[in-house]
Amino acid sequence: MDIRSNEPFWLVKNGLLHTYPSLRDHLSCDILIVGSGITGALMAHSFIEKGFDTVLIDKREIANGSSSATTSMLQYEIDVPLYELIEMIGAQGAVGSYKACRDSIDRLQQLVKEIGSPCGFEQKDSLYFASRSKDVKWLKKEFEARKLAGFEVQWLEKKEIKAKYGLLAEGGILSTDGGSVDAFCLAHDLLHYNAKKGLRVFDKTELKKVRYDKDKVLAETSTGAVITAGKIVYCTGYEAQSMLPEKIVALKSTYAMVSEKNNALSPSISNTLFWNTDAPYLYMRTTSDGRLLVGGEDENFRNALRRDALLGRKKDKLVKTVKKFLPELSFIEDFCWCGTFGETKDGLPYIGAHPKFPNSYFVLGFGGNGITFSVIGMDIIPEMIKGSPGLLSHYFRFGR
Ligand SMILES: Cc1cc2nc3c(=O)[nH]c(=O)nc-3n(C[C@H](O)[C@H](O)[C@H](O)COP(=O)(O)OP(=O)(O)OC[C@H]3O[C@@H](n4cnc5c(N)ncnc54)[C@H](O)[C@@H]3O)c2cc1C
Repeated sequence: MDIRSNEPFWLVKNGLLHTYPSLRDHLSCDILIVGSGITGALMAHSFIEKGFDTVLIDKREIANGSSSATTSMLQYEIDVPLYELIEMIGAQGAVGSYKACRDSIDRLQQLVKEIGSPCGFEQKDSLYFASRSKDVKWLKKEFEARKLAGFEVQWLEKKEIKAKYGLLAEGGILSTDGGSVDAFCLAHDLLHYNAKKGLRVFDKTELKKVRYDKDKVLAETSTGAVITAGKIVYCTGYEAQSMLPEKIVALKSTYAMVSEKNNALSPSISNTLFWNTDAPYLYMRTTSDGRLLVGGEDENFRNALRRDALLGRKKDKLVKTVKKFLPELSFIEDFCWCGTFGETKDGLPYIGAHPKFPNSYFVLGFGGNGITFSVIGMDIIPEMIKGSPGLLSHYFRFGR
């Protein structure tokens, strides 16, 4: 599956940060992680920290899947509004999921500090704005639901938004507790850090076939090696759908671009994540090197040829949309790319065991919160292995 176009900004910016050998010998370990994106890297950190003998493989170069294409906004706000999620799964699961996402942003910040990663982590506010007046009513309902659940939120009127950001909107929810990061760089730094602590990493090594035994798995790779592992943890992102018997995620195509560096970006714009009530939604944030990053224009198909063929047209539309909402801002595009994106019906991830795969776990952080969900997986899977799964695992389970 071709999950992204060429030249996402992060690949160009960072280049080849670290490389690893492909696997040529048989080996054994406690935990085999498949996938070296931000999810696999976070899971590897968690397992090494807890003393598991851990091996990680990837069929591509490190973090060259979705984690090189992501726009990496870190939000506690899930794609499904809180009031709707409460109606769908009840307050315990909905508020619990929102709060876990909020906590995972702090955790990520601590982690970045701990490993000394120059991945440009920044704490930010988040403005969820109504693009049309008819959206104000339900957005206010969302505001009330969040306030009631104890989130730090403020309602901003049209005039206040214009004065603070120069943004044309009908009203919006301003939240603290957001962030942004370069997930490609962070995944690399996490793996590099943990490789020094015993993590064994192999790139260009595809998992081809698995024999699931009662107390272990035998994993055959494209390089002719067999890995005998106590448990296997699939961190294979959107490509995981192809190995599952049931449909869990709607795969689509999404588009993103960054501007040239712009010294005129105001501090209020630089300190805020923006997303709006359109469907598909437009989102914007600045990068740590002073560019405006914009994404959206989703299409409901995942064919890579069709997706990439639309890139030029989507770029023009994104530029036009930025100018519509931020008419006073000069936006000169620099890099533009696209990728596969996926959403679940309830906006929640799939994290846990699947009945068809013994001794195996999945960490599939789908949706606009993919990265924060992956951080949550760092606790859930080790807890499951210990036999004491936490409350949220119920809401993230397969077959829900
Ligand atoms: C344009 C865009 C914007 C996005 N914006 C955001 C955002 O703002 N915030 C956010 O949180 N999320 C966002 N996302 C989603 C986010 O990118 C994903 O949630 C995240 O990158 C997933 O990371 P991952 O490690 O699970 O998957 P990936 O990064 O795709 O990693 C999976 C890895 O598994 C490997 N693999 C697959 N099968 C095999 C196999 N058989 N053998 C060996 N290796 C295998 C792949 O090569 C790949 O490297 C966005 C996505 C896109 C495309």
